[in-house]
Amino acid sequence: MNYDKYRNLQYSEASEIQQVQDKLLSGHIEYCAVNSPFYRDFFKKNKVDFRKIKTVSDLKNIPFTEKSDIAANNASFQAVSDTEVVDVCLSSATMSDEPIMIFQTREDIERLSYNEELAFAMAGITENDTLLVCAALDRCFMAGLAYFLGGVKLGTRTVRGGAGSAAQLWYLIEKTKATAIVGVASFMMKIAMYAEENGKKPALQGVKKLISIGEPVRDKSLALLPVSAELEKTWNAELYSTYASSELATSFCECPARRGGHLRPELIVLEIVDKSGNPVPDGETGEVVVTPLGITGMPLVRFKTGDISFIIDEKCSCGRSTVRIGPILGRKGQMLKFRGTTVFPNTILSAIEDKKYIYGAYVEAATGRDGNDDIKLFAALNGENPGIEVLKDEIRARTRVSPEIVIVSKEELDSVVYGSEKKRKRVTFIDRRKNEQ
Ligand SMILES: [Zn+2]
Repeated sequence: MNYDKYRNLQYSEASEIQQVQDKLLSGHIEYCAVNSPFYRDFFKKNKVDFRKIKTVSDLKNIPFTEKSDIAANNASFQAVSDTEVVDVCLSSATMSDEPIMIFQTREDIERLSYNEELAFAMAGITENDTLLVCAALDRCFMAGLAYFLGGVKLGTRTVRGGAGSAAQLWYLIEKTKATAIVGVASFMMKIAMYAEENGKKPALQGVKKLISIGEPVRDKSLALLPVSAELEKTWNAELYSTYASSELATSFCECPARRGGHLRPELIVLEIVDKSGNPVPDGETGEVVVTPLGITGMPLVRFKTGDISFIIDEKCSCGRSTVRIGPILGRKGQMLKFRGTTVFPNTILSAIEDKKYIYGAYVEAATGRDGNDDIKLFAALNGENPGIEVLKDEIRARTRVSPEIVIVSKEELDSVVYGSEKKRKRVTFIDRRKNEQ
């Protein structure tokens, strides 16, 4: 597909954007009905006539696709012959389940480059920047590949740093005079801490932009989390958030207004739904459901991401007319109940993660006797223990919950959070509750 004609669609009138999206969507649904063995069956079973799906509002007539559907029928999601597949990705499994395979064609790779080129451009990165990619390019990760391709397409000096050690990445930052970094926020903090411990000053290094992937950096009001504000200060750089996943194959990146990630209407259809699968009004939180457009290798329709967020429909000061997605507030089913209030594990962690005396932490929940969730926070400390009460106060001040606090060694913490080599993502929440929602 030639995407060049869509480059400026984001500035068009809402009605024009809708028209283009409707057309691309009906083409996508037809493609799935004809080429994807899974959707051929799925549409038949659910009595979906693809010819009747003409607009985004018709999408509600198609049932959702869950990650478990893909896991159970992975091969039947492949919509092209093996010879047309040029890349195989594994999607991050956050729990213990096996990662799923994602098959990409040459067109999908081109689409991925276009998507990421525009995401970087959205954050104000130009061909004059040197961009350090702090995400794995190997082991079938999509993220590192996407950022590398996007950087190349944009014409930046792209440095494939990968997900190595903080020492090695700091060396690359100094050596290449990197002006922008894309990576996980907590890892960008680790690099800065390594530099400081070695008598260097990250704030004077000349890095101007940090693009955060995989972890939220803002709270529901779009204010930076304390740990993110600390990260900006440490690097003396602007922090931008981008939301993506391997199944999305599309990113929602923040513009210079930095108030949520803009939707690319030519690449993806976004819905936010409640527990029963009904759409929620803009601004209200629910599960993120996506239909990535134009994918040929492994197309998806109404894929339920499990991520909880909301749509921001107010006009953005950057002049783009596209809607934005808010920060990912948590994962579906992770909401904790505590004496009449609810909270996501992330929110508890973000209340203390910026403290210098915190090395790391994770949250564990179990079913309590009184109907509340028993919440435990396991924390490892850097040096001196500030006292359990201090930690409790910090958490209460930001979340109104008061978990039991258990101090563990750094080694114990790392073994839970990073676990075995096989794990592809940090685990900071362990759910031992009987009835997971
Ligand atoms: Zn904007």
